[in-house]
Amino acid sequence: MFELLARDKYSKARRGRLRTAHGVIDTPVFMPVGTQGSVKAVSPRELRELEAQIVLGNTYHLLVRPGIDVIKHFGGLHRFMNWDGPILTDSGGYQIFSLAKLRKISEEGVEFQNHVDGTPAFISPEIAMEIQTTLGSDIAMVLDECTPYPCKHDYAARSVEMTTRWAKRCKEALQRRKENVQRSTSNAQRSIEEDQQSAIRNPQSAIKRQLLFGIIQGATFDDLRKASAQAIVDLGFDGYAIGGVSVGEPQEEMMRAVESCEPFLPADKPRYAMGLGTPPQMLEMIARGIDMFDCVLPTRLARNGTGFTPTGTINLKNADFALDKSPIEENCACYACSEFSRSYIRHLVKAEEILGLRLITLHNLHFYLDLMKQARTAIEREEFDEFRRGFASKYKARDADLAVTQ
Ligand SMILES: [Zn+2]
Repeated sequence: MFELLARDKYSKARRGRLRTAHGVIDTPVFMPVGTQGSVKAVSPRELRELEAQIVLGNTYHLLVRPGIDVIKHFGGLHRFMNWDGPILTDSGGYQIFSLAKLRKISEEGVEFQNHVDGTPAFISPEIAMEIQTTLGSDIAMVLDECTPYPCKHDYAARSVEMTTRWAKRCKEALQRRKENVQRSTSNAQRSIEEDQQSAIRNPQSAIKRQLLFGIIQGATFDDLRKASAQAIVDLGFDGYAIGGVSVGEPQEEMMRAVESCEPFLPADKPRYAMGLGTPPQMLEMIARGIDMFDCVLPTRLARNGTGFTPTGTINLKNADFALDKSPIEENCACYACSEFSRSYIRHLVKAEEILGLRLITLHNLHFYLDLMKQARTAIEREEFDEFRRGFASKYKARDADLAVTQ
C-alpha cells in the first residue's frame, strides 16, 4: 500500500508512494482542501491540469450541506463532485469542535448543533465511519477530539485516552462495514487493477480498499504526544496523522509536537500533519519525516488578493502593482502567470471580478503543488537539505498570512 522509495541522508525526509482505490499518490504531497465538495473557485478539470493528486473533503460541512443522503443518492463523493482521483475525508471532529455550537462530549460521542441552521446532530466513532464509507473516500480519518490551544495537561491527558478508545471503535466499525461489503460482493480473488477499475464503476468495491488513518493528539505536552503516538500505533492503522497542530500555538511548539511523535511512527506507513502550513513550514515538516499536508492557505489567501512567490507572499491589491507588467511569479508555468500581468489581476481583484480570485487561486495551488514536486525531486537526488535551506533563505514569512489558517 505504501512504498518508501528514497530517504534523505541529512534529514528524515522521505520520498514515497501511496496506493489508493482511485490511484497512486507520490509523497511528499499537498492535498488541496475541498471544504464543501469543491476546492474553492477551481473545477476538477483544473485540479487535474494542476496535477493535484488527491483532494480533501470535509465530512462536517458535507453532513450539514447537502446532507449525506444526497451524496449517497449519487453513489459517493467522487461521482457527486465528478472527481475520479483519490479523496481523503476527515472525520468531522475538527469542525464540530471549532464551528458547531452546544457541544456535549461523552464517551459515546459528540452532540452538537450545526453552525448553519442549528439543527441538533450526534456523531460517534461508528457514525463517523458510516458517513465516510457512504462518502466513499479513499482515505478515512478516525474521530478524535482536537483539544484547543492552550489546553491544561489533565484535560489533554483524559482527551488523549478517549481519542485512543474512539480510534479503536473506528477501526472495528470500518472492519465490520468492509466485511459486510465483502459478503455482499463475494468476488474474493480479484487483482488490484481490477479493483481499481471497479472502484470507479462501483463505489461499494472501493470501500473494501478504503484506508483508515489514526490521529495522534496530546496538545503541546511531550509526554502525552509520545503516549498518544504509542497507543495509536499499537492499534495499527494504514497511516498516521498528527492532529491538534496549527491550532494557534507558536511554531516551535508545532515542530516539537511532531518531533515527539515521529520516533514512534512506523517507517512503512504514511504520515500526515493535519492543517499545515506555510511553504517553509511544510519543508520543515518534510525534514522531520512527514509525507502529507493539507491547508486552506493557498485558496483562502487567494481570496484576499494574496499570491505566493519564492520570496514570500505579495498582496496584489497593493498600489505598487498598478502598472506592473510581470506575472505574479516570474517563470511560473501556471495559467495565471503564463497569460496575465500583476496589473491586470490587481484590477480584477479591486473591481471584485471573480476571475481575479480564480487566477490567484490557480497560481497559489500551482505554487504549493510544485513545491512538493521540487521536494520529491530533491529527496531523490539527495539534495533535500540544500533545497530546504535555499528556499528558507529566500522566503520571507508574514505573520498576517498565518492568522488566516485559523
Ligand atoms: Zn503562477
